[in-house]
Amino acid sequence: MNLQELDAYFYSLDRSFFLEGEMRTYAALDTPLPIGFGQTISQPSLVLEMTKLLRPERDSRVLEIGTGSGFQTAILAGMSGKVYTVERIAELMERAKGRLDLLGFTNICYKVGDGSLGWEEFAPYDRIMVTAAARVLPEDLVRQLAAGGRMVIPVGPPDVQELQLVTKTADGDLQIKTVSMVRFVELKGQYGWEDDQ
Ligand code: SAM
Repeated sequence: MNLQELDAYFYSLDRSFFLEGEMRTYAALDTPLPIGFGQTISQPSLVLEMTKLLRPERDSRVLEIGTGSGFQTAILAGMSGKVYTVERIAELMERAKGRLDLLGFTNICYKVGDGSLGWEEFAPYDRIMVTAAARVLPEDLVRQLAAGGRMVIPVGPPDVQELQLVTKTADGDLQIKTVSMVRFVELKGQYGWEDDQ
């Protein structure tokens, strides 16, 4: 991954395009903002940090869990070969897809469902980005990560989580490194928190 290219691409994206109503006014602030349904778009500096940790390459096949507004999806799709994105709230997915279609992306596959289980059909993935807080490291995601792959995922209780970088060696061994402490909305589902909807 070329860091200068990533920075240039990241700052070329208009975050307000991924927001609705008066929230657009606050798009330039480095803070999470509501996107409806009790969910948030993450602060831009964290999105950039997580993308740098993930290190997508031009030919990477990337699984993203938690499409949300589609902002992170746009960054991944612009920096990698193909993105498979999973969101549990159908209305959020529809809105995100509408925006990403308008931007002209043709390398994104969308699925509504429990992303804590990954997306078995297209596994393995070179990169996995999880943008909601898992209760534990989801073993299905670990299994769907390719040898030599990288996964970035917040793991821990709802109030604060470890941002983990999980790498899988060519032999299939896992290395897990805690990079920082973060606060994300809950990942619901089997490896997440109870779904109250
Ligand atoms: N990356 C998004 C963006 O750029 O707008 C922000 C993601 S938001 C912090 C977390 C998202 O994860 C929410 O849209 C939420 O509905 C979704 N989510 C939570 N649990 C999920 C699950 N089990 N499967 C798929 N999506 C999930």
